[in-house]
Amino acid sequence: SEEIVAVDNTHKQAQSVISVPSRLLMGPGPANAHPRVLNAQALPLLGHMHPPFLHIMDEMSEGLRYALQTKSKYTLMISGTGHAGMEAAIANLVEPGDKVLVGNAGIWGERVGILSRRYNADVVEIKCPTGETFSYADLKKAVETHKPKVLFLCQGESSTGTHQSLAGVGELCRANGTLLLVDTVCSLGGVPLFADAWGVDCIYSGSQKCLSGPPGAAPFFMSERAMEKLAKRKTPPATYNLDLNLIGDYWGWWNKRSYHHTGPVSTFYAMREALQIVAEEGLEPMWARHQEMHHRLWDGLRSLGLKPFVEKEEHRLITVNTIKVPEGVDWAKVVKHAMDEYSLEIAGGLGPTAGKVWRIGIMGFNAKPQNVDLVIDAFRAGLKQQGKL
Ligand code: PMP
Repeated sequence: SEEIVAVDNTHKQAQSVISVPSRLLMGPGPANAHPRVLNAQALPLLGHMHPPFLHIMDEMSEGLRYALQTKSKYTLMISGTGHAGMEAAIANLVEPGDKVLVGNAGIWGERVGILSRRYNADVVEIKCPTGETFSYADLKKAVETHKPKVLFLCQGESSTGTHQSLAGVGELCRANGTLLLVDTVCSLGGVPLFADAWGVDCIYSGSQKCLSGPPGAAPFFMSERAMEKLAKRKTPPATYNLDLNLIGDYWGWWNKRSYHHTGPVSTFYAMREALQIVAEEGLEPMWARHQEMHHRLWDGLRSLGLKPFVEKEEHRLITVNTIKVPEGVDWAKVVKHAMDEYSLEIAGGLGPTAGKVWRIGIMGFNAKPQNVDLVIDAFRAGLKQQGKL
């Protein structure tokens, strides 16, 4: 009779040691995490309801208040990536039938539109030409015409490399009974943001970009006005996983703690350390460092004859830079050459910019001269390889 094999040993790779090559991540993200953040992530686990861990969560809420420049009690990290933050924002702020005005300047606006429809919002989209942003006049007209419950804008549109100005938008929203929701996934820590002073009502962000953390925790903020809307909902949010009434209760928003889900303990340690590093450097020096590295990048790229995709300087995002692919250049070959020869990630376009641009991230721990210079060297070599220099 045939012998029954108790253990299937065919998947031998499960027994080999994990192998992770060393790469410099200068695309739109993730960026390399700060070494101190990686060390924090390796600390021993605590239970997700243990007082020392809840204390670490409190410290994270406080660190977020500094990073977002808010006094709001309502900051936390959503357990998940930027998309989870995006979904939490829509699911909680929007009730079925609510009008949501979406500023679509690239793929992130497009996705917020898709997501909002899934929560039965009445979505009105405004679009701007690819590589441009909305003017205050555009936004004023749209908000006054539609009187939406929520206006969505993406501060750093990483698919096009644009920086949406928020000047005056908070007041405009207040005057029209609109909540202002802003995506800061690619911008938080890299460019100025003042949640309270600018009258922003809800913000979600990312951990793996300018904050130099690992992916998996989305910084999140609600204003008092946004909390009032949440409290007055007629029906609970259609998602249990991302219900802020429940997540907020885990984070102590109402001065008690209830189990909702198991916080990603190690990722939270990492983000506690990442926020500490932000506080140590200070926001203003951090913003200045990103600005300086952006200029250094463009000095180098211009010397190679490369040009920015975003025509107007005031529309350019400094953290994710889009570079026009010149006629006759194979963009993918430059990307591959950088990876093969320099172990360096640079990226092509996304959505409306696919095939038209390269995208270079200068974010967080990675925003330093030697990295920027390596990117320029890689472009020089990549263009030479194609006989374009
Ligand atoms: N918004 C913006 C502006 C982004 O750049 C990204 C990620 N590239 C996201 C949202 C989504 O974040 P995640 O991939 O972490 O879910």
